[in-house]
Formats: sequence, C-alpha cells, structure tokens
Amino acid sequence: RTGFLAIVGRPNVGKSTLLNHLIGQKISITSRKAQTTRHRVNGVLTNDTHQFVFVDTPGFQKQHSNALNRAMNRSVTQALGDVDVVLFVIEAGKLTAADRAVMELLPSQIPVVLVINKVDRIADKRQLLPFIATVAAEREFAAVVPLSAETGANADELLKACGPLL
Ligand code: GDP
Ligand code: MG
Repeated sequence: RTGFLAIVGRPNVGKSTLLNHLIGQKISITSRKAQTTRHRVNGVLTNDTHQFVFVDTPGFQKQHSNALNRAMNRSVTQALGDVDVVLFVIEAGKLTAADRAVMELLPSQIPVVLVINKVDRIADKRQLLPFIATVAAEREFAAVVPLSAETGANADELLKACGPLL
C-alpha cells in the first residue's frame, strides 16, 4: 500500500531530523500524482509492506493568527485533509502555545499520530506517561509514538504505527 504522510509541528521540534532519519540516503522524488499536487514530496520510504510518501504542506510553518488570515488557515487544513496520516511532532516534556496553534489546524477527519520527539533528553522515561496523558487529553490521536529522531531510538515503531493507517 502507498500512503501520503505530512510531518507537521512548530519550528525546532525535529521534523527535518525525523525525515532525514527515516529516509536516510533513500531520498527520491516521485512524479506528480493527483494526490500530491497540493504538496511537495520530500521523500519516499518503502519497506516490505508499504510505501510511505512524505509531503510538505505549504504555508503550514507560518502563523496565521489574525482574523484576516482565517482563509489561509482553512486552506492549510484542507491541504492536510488529503494526506492519509498526519504526524504531529512535539518535544518530550513540552507543550507550548505554538504547539497548540499547530494542533488547532489539524484536520479532524484524518488520523493524527502524536510523535513525541527528543526522548533521549528525558532521563527518567516514566515521566513520559503523565506527559502523554496531558497531550492526549487535548485531542484524539490514532497512535502515540515517543522516539528520538537524533538517535533513532524507537523510530521503527513510527512506521509500524502508520502502516495500518495508510
Ligand atoms: P524542525 O525545525 O522541526 O525541522 O527541527 P530540526 O529537525 O531542524 O531540529 C531542530 C533541533 O533539534 C536541531 O538542533 C536538532 O539537532 C535537534 N533535534 C532533533 N531531533 C532531536 C532528538 O531526537 N533529540 C535531540 N536531543 N535533539 C534533536
Ligand atoms: Mg525543518
């Protein structure tokens, strides 16, 4: 199965590091397909069972907070609405106003996987459980995957969680 995935999150949570870790040297740009016209393809990862196409969502990085820009927010949310899975990345132990602003733009009809990155910074991993509970109370997630994009710890779990959602 082939599926389209968008990696979203405020600046510095580790989106690029995560994509680089997942794709490694295997970066390849596919030809334009109907579903990708509103996105730029960043890379494709193929394993035994699935093809994961990672896409960018133009305009997502900008903060569209004033009333004039609500239409822009809607178009960002619509663009996200035609991927199969959204990976919402935050940093372990931190949920900031900027994270919440991104969370508000996530479409409700698409499975969102909560990626808790930088777990290598958390010495006592038991601290993750109450943190995850706090974030999961704010929104429904199809899966929650704590990992480290930098060390690669638990990164394979992300693909395992996403496969069935494609
Ligand atoms: P982006 O803005 O979301 O694309 O974030 P980047 O991928 O550019 O990462 C921002 C910073 O966080 C960089 O200095 C990365 O080296 C660092 N970083 C990313 N992932 C991890 C991680 O898993 N652990 C730690 N300790 N640092 C990370
Ligand atoms: Mg980046």
